[in-house]
Amino acid sequence: MDRFGIFGFPIQHSLSPVMHTASFRSLGLDAEYIAFEVAPEDLARKLKMCQSEGFCGLNMTIPHKTAVIPLIDRVDPVAALAGAVNTVRFDADGKTSGFNTDIGGFLADLKESCGSVPDGKRILVVGCGGAGRAIALGCVRAGAATVLLANRTEARAHEVAALLNPLATCTDIEVLPSDLAQWCSAARTCDVIINGTSVGLHAEDESPLPAAAFCAKQVVYDLVYSPTRSTPFLRCAWAQGACGVDGLGMLIHQGAEAFQLWTGRDADIAAMRAAVWKEK
Ligand code: NAP
Repeated sequence: MDRFGIFGFPIQHSLSPVMHTASFRSLGLDAEYIAFEVAPEDLARKLKMCQSEGFCGLNMTIPHKTAVIPLIDRVDPVAALAGAVNTVRFDADGKTSGFNTDIGGFLADLKESCGSVPDGKRILVVGCGGAGRAIALGCVRAGAATVLLANRTEARAHEVAALLNPLATCTDIEVLPSDLAQWCSAARTCDVIINGTSVGLHAEDESPLPAAAFCAKQVVYDLVYSPTRSTPFLRCAWAQGACGVDGLGMLIHQGAEAFQLWTGRDADIAAMRAAVWKEK
């Protein structure tokens, strides 16, 4: 039996095991996918352990996506730029390869769920942590006309801009001051608005942007996903007539890309989606 898994801390709420298991079953693959709670100090040891036990691949989630990079033999150049590896493959030559499938997962779902692509668009990314940085990179690589970066800690947005500027041959990169009123007026000029902050994970959270930031015809994407598919950010956007979705589709598509990297086969995305919906 082929074995796969995910490292996170905590990990108990991960949907990845049911999602991948559904695709293995549907395609008749003899494989299992296990969730491992791995504390930061155990990352290197547990990675080696899985390799020596013959695992084929692993996903990495919070807090391991950056910390795993120095432990990987071959890091895909886009993952290296993003500073985040969420998919590790144990190769036949005894080496490890690392990839970032969050970016492809986001772009695939933006297209599938919102009918939109970054090409030529003016895009606001709120949140410049690990996920926001990867998404902003994906938007630049996909030909966005402008990427506006907004982060509570402004210095972090400048760091992301410094990373993106050399790559942005056809994209203007702008950093917004850490000021909600300015985020709001800038947001109203954008075609696509993305929440890359972790705000919205908890029931009591407020939206990182108020309703006044949104208008109809905008595409709004919240990386956060919730059992109801509704988040504070999305509720504000919907109230103004904007089209918006949560990050569940991104989760499914990043998983499908990882599945392909590990098995060489296309995942059964419909089976993955059905399994995730049933779980929620
Ligand atoms: P991270 O590296 O810890 O970054 C967190 C971000 O949220 C930072 O920009 C942080 O700003 C901001 N933030 C936190 N609390 C805030 C607050 N009260 N007000 C304003 N900004 C706040 O986390 P991450 O890995 O980027 O993940 C971000 C979110 O994306 C999480 O909800 C995660 O679940 C989601 N995600 C979803 C998918 C998916 O497949 N759908 C994939 C990856 C990540 P500071 O820099 O100022 O602290």
